Amino acid sequence: MLQLTDLIRDIPDFPKPGILFKDITPLLGSPAGLALAVEMMASPYRGQGIQKVCGAESRGFIFGTAIAQALSAGFVPIRKPGKLPAETKAISYDLEYGSDTLEIHADAVHPGEKILMVDDLLATGGTMKACCDLVSGIGAEIVGITVLIELLALKGREHIGGPIDIHAVLEF
Ligand code: IMP
Repeated sequence: MLQLTDLIRDIPDFPKPGILFKDITPLLGSPAGLALAVEMMASPYRGQGIQKVCGAESRGFIFGTAIAQALSAGFVPIRKPGKLPAETKAISYDLEYGSDTLEIHADAVHPGEKILMVDDLLATGGTMKACCDLVSGIGAEIVGITVLIELLALKGREHIGGPIDIHAVLEF
């Protein structure tokens, strides 16, 4: 039987010493693995009236677009600064060392629109919290967050906080 965990490999010391990186590229390269992952990420949100799926650069784009199609929703990219051509809203958030900024087109989501947030992996939750703050700052309604992998020890859920439903297909 197909096990998604068999398609995720640990790479030690990437991108820097001491980090054990979860590499999902074997899963992406597996037709059955990719289809199962997308279905398992999307299915809890079927029938919930999701209008847009938002995903952050860059692995959020891969799953976000596929999940948007599975839910008959649109896809909205959240990008690194200077990549989006029209008017944007930006948010900066703290990293372990320094900070990062993400941007969304100001007209990409609308007040009251039902949104599903997507990323490949939830670690500290900093990236996802920033994406959620961008979207809810415009007044859209975040119905849930779906990720392929949650790294439980890093307590991303606590960082995101609030009542938002978070669905993780795999927990490590
Ligand atoms: P966070 O902001 O600490 O929750 O980190 C999550 C973001 O970093 C996601 O956008 C992931 O794509 C990326 N990331 C962090 N650790 C890993 C990993 O082990 N494998 C793949 N992506 C990771």
